[in-house]
Amino acid sequence: MLNQIKGLHHVTSMAADAQQNNSFFTGTLGLRRVKKTVNFDAPEVYHLYYGDDAGTPGSVMTYFPFPDIDRGRGGVGEVGETYFAVPKGSMAYWKERLAERDVPLIGEEERFGQSYLRFAGPDRDGFSLVETDADPRLGWSKAGIGTAEAVKGFQGASLRLKDAGATAELLTFMGYQQVDTQKEWTRFSMPGGNGADIIDLQTLPQAGSAALGAGSVHHIAFAVDDRAAQLEVRRALMDTGYQVTPVIDRDYFYAIYFRTPGGVLFEIATNEPGFDRDEDTAHLGQALKLPARYEPFREQIRDLLPPIND
Ligand code: ZN
Repeated sequence: MLNQIKGLHHVTSMAADAQQNNSFFTGTLGLRRVKKTVNFDAPEVYHLYYGDDAGTPGSVMTYFPFPDIDRGRGGVGEVGETYFAVPKGSMAYWKERLAERDVPLIGEEERFGQSYLRFAGPDRDGFSLVETDADPRLGWSKAGIGTAEAVKGFQGASLRLKDAGATAELLTFMGYQQVDTQKEWTRFSMPGGNGADIIDLQTLPQAGSAALGAGSVHHIAFAVDDRAAQLEVRRALMDTGYQVTPVIDRDYFYAIYFRTPGGVLFEIATNEPGFDRDEDTAHLGQALKLPARYEPFREQIRDLLPPIND
């Protein structure tokens, strides 16, 4: 069993409209945009990162806004819902804030003794808010939302699966502990994690497969401290039979990817070097940042990207 993984690092999803996406995450949810860059494999598309003040691993929601992309279809083989942690006592504030801003509220659901306020993002993304106690993480509170309400980061995420067995085994191998089961749900938690410690498996044997599109999660990334830990995890996964990509430099972290038995794409990402690698903390997310190989094409790339008004 591995002991290098510390919870979630980031969740990356697809969107249809960059402006709408930016307004929702920075305005409605009050996250900080910590990086404005491009998809390293498709530089005509943004890669937008939102999180706490520093883009701390475990708080980072990222998006590829592909203009005019079709909406995804929910189903098995994908991340079902991403859970944001909010302070104890803040749920009434959030209910009112989301309703005022016409965010579709799906309702409240009790899972494992906690109440989840489920809502849809701009592309019908599956989200929920959950109050967490004894969670020392501070959110980004400069967007007109105080520290008593600000989103702390992720609490975790759920995976929708036809059969949870092999994914449960994988999570256990990754260092997660199964803590409880309830109806179609099985809860896993990362002991000693970074706060974004929960993975719920939702078993839906009758459901159809998910189709990737706007509002779908593209992949879910787990955090390790550094490249040495990442190589240990990579070796262990490969020894277990997983096909894992080589290490890829994403400028703000190093990444490896592998497809899991239930169909969900997992990434293992390093906490180093972080989002202040190429701009100081006070100005995170403001300038368009490009990986070195695209820097010679900055003007052409900028012309292809839709403007975003902050
Ligand atoms: Zn990623």
